Amino acid sequence: MTSPQDPRDLIRQHDEEAQAVEDQAVAEVVGPLEAAFTALWRWVLRTWARLFGAPKSPAEGEPLRSLLDELVARIVGIGLDPVDALLANAQRARLLGADQGAREAGLPVLPDPGEVSDETKAAIERGVRWAQQKLETGAEELQALAEADLDEVLKRASVARQASAILTRTARTTFNAELNEGIRAAAKASGARLLWVAERDACVDCLAQSGQVIDWDGEFDPARTFGTKAHVFHGLLKGPPRHPNCRCRVTPWFGHDTEGAEGITHDWAEAIREAEERGDAVGAAAARRAAAAARASAAVDLPEVLRREAERSILNGYALPSESERVRARAANRLLSLIGDGKNSRSPSGWRVPASVKKRAERALSKGTFTTRSVPTGRK
Ligand SMILES: [Zn+2]
Repeated sequence: MTSPQDPRDLIRQHDEEAQAVEDQAVAEVVGPLEAAFTALWRWVLRTWARLFGAPKSPAEGEPLRSLLDELVARIVGIGLDPVDALLANAQRARLLGADQGAREAGLPVLPDPGEVSDETKAAIERGVRWAQQKLETGAEELQALAEADLDEVLKRASVARQASAILTRTARTTFNAELNEGIRAAAKASGARLLWVAERDACVDCLAQSGQVIDWDGEFDPARTFGTKAHVFHGLLKGPPRHPNCRCRVTPWFGHDTEGAEGITHDWAEAIREAEERGDAVGAAAARRAAAAARASAAVDLPEVLRREAERSILNGYALPSESERVRARAANRLLSLIGDGKNSRSPSGWRVPASVKKRAERALSKGTFTTRSVPTGRK
């Protein structure tokens, strides 16, 4: 059971909110391109049927040439210019991050989110150039065809269509980079540090970052991983996204404060006593519930909770279908060997792993049946 004051609840709520804005941003950037391709595909299918009949009947010569010329002209004519939309969405993400970070830090005012970073601007330019190259390559490959059936034509046209996937990835990655930059601005303004919060089904590299804390202007250690070797994209790791489609985020972190938690409880003790003196049983019960929630919230050692959650994800194989099961099996095996066999043996984060969790992983690994699975719903 998580109490409503679990700080992860607000972070998850912010993540969902950000994801919705991100989806909108992607639709805005990639939507027109996708619509153009859908229309193009329909045109090819119709025209092929009219000129050559069945999809399998091979075409060549002048009829094929004129179809391909028209197709290439349409691909080149798509006119790809999403830079402004990408930049605008990056700025929107930064503002959203500053707002969410301020709420997570309890800041009463919105901090200055700052301008989109040079890294993001460069990433946008790179992504758009790459997408444009795909359109050109697709067009060239189509032009080189001397004879073909419909499958072959569509296969080569699909190279151009990869532009859409590249733009989607660029939009998502730059959005998340700027969202986290906004949260960083909130941490700076509130004098907080930054805590990495991974999704429970994050990859072996990201799970190893979960629960790590840095100064607001610091860097995470890029070599950290539950796997054999961390992917290093560039030397520095200012924060998420760790890789394309990474859904990790940072949150402002003030430290684990049991004294503060006791202070809150003490104030509530006063309220409970007063209510009892008045004979107000309902008020006393409400104050008791509030005291428990306040204590739970302030006393949560969130970095430790996250590190433990990450280790649990490794042992349970919580992962996205896109991650290799072999990598996850190896990571679970490695973590088990670090935990060891003693009765009081602990995980690297200091957690006494329940025997049932350990046994399940050990059995699956020794039988070769260790598989990844999605995070159980209801307790994400
Ligand atoms: Zn991640």
